[in-house]
Amino acid sequence: MYKKNMKHLVLALTACFLLSSCGSKNADIQSDSVISSAPVTSVPVATAVPEKPAESVPASPAATSVPETPAPAPTEIPTETPTPEPTEPYTAAEVWLTDDLLYASFSAIHSEPAILYTNNQANKNGHTVCVNAGHGTSGGESVRTQCHPDGTPKVTGGSTAEGATTAMAVASGMDFADGTPERVVTLQEALILRDLLLENGYNVLMIRETDDRQLDNIARTVLANNYADCHVAIHWDSTDYDKGAYYMSVPGDPTYRSMEPVASTWERSNHFGDCLIEGLRSVGTPIFEGGSIEMDLTQTSYSSVPSIDIELGDRVSDHGDEALATLARGLLAGIDLFFTS
Ligand SMILES: [Zn+2]
Repeated sequence: MYKKNMKHLVLALTACFLLSSCGSKNADIQSDSVISSAPVTSVPVATAVPEKPAESVPASPAATSVPETPAPAPTEIPTETPTPEPTEPYTAAEVWLTDDLLYASFSAIHSEPAILYTNNQANKNGHTVCVNAGHGTSGGESVRTQCHPDGTPKVTGGSTAEGATTAMAVASGMDFADGTPERVVTLQEALILRDLLLENGYNVLMIRETDDRQLDNIARTVLANNYADCHVAIHWDSTDYDKGAYYMSVPGDPTYRSMEPVASTWERSNHFGDCLIEGLRSVGTPIFEGGSIEMDLTQTSYSSVPSIDIELGDRVSDHGDEALATLARGLLAGIDLFFTS
């Protein structure tokens, strides 16, 4: 049912953009102000009233002349306009990586926008969550970007070896054991989480809502830094034993933790990761060992808001609709915990 609402929203928003009806809202506001200013204009007429008691009747010729003047016409125009504005539950806007944003110059792929949903519902809480469906940037694996903003080498291994100074702009991701590409499942999960977050009062920055979105990991991170209060990137691991969920925590390497923006963010990022794991645990998701593995990621290295890469399982984990819905509830619980702890 919620998805239907979202479709209506998207259609409404599309119509809004196409027809510039958003602009007409301003027109309505202006016409409202015309209405309110009308009584002010009529005040002088009211002032004339005291003079009427004796001679108002003979003054009828003057009254006759009133209909001749076009005065009534402007009064009627605002009367026709006061159609009550339907309040959309959410508004959506494209957000683009622009040159003025810190670290934007390190991004190699940013020819498409992300979508920022602003919640207008009564339960809105003002928090904005960046939901980043991992992978899904075609060609991203053949472009390289700098691992760290200061040019230092990676302090851990991973998909890019320790010591490297550049990494794939966006990796293509693994395939599940049944052949489903990881990017397909991360997108399914992200869309479910988006709807849950909106339903629960959050604003949501969606990095992608389609199979392919031309935004590399640095662009995604910089957008989250500027338009969200926290950033969760959704992934599944490439192992084969249904290992359970865990997050990529900020490496303990002192040099790494003293590099900006990591120095200002790492404690809150790790706390955010712990909250997500607690949320997942609360809905029965198996957790891998301690719930985290230290990893030097491009995302972490450029994040100035609490930011987590979460691995919700691996390539043999259940990724059916019910499993994804449960995981989304767990992530929501973790996000709620983060903002209340
Ligand atoms: Zn992944």
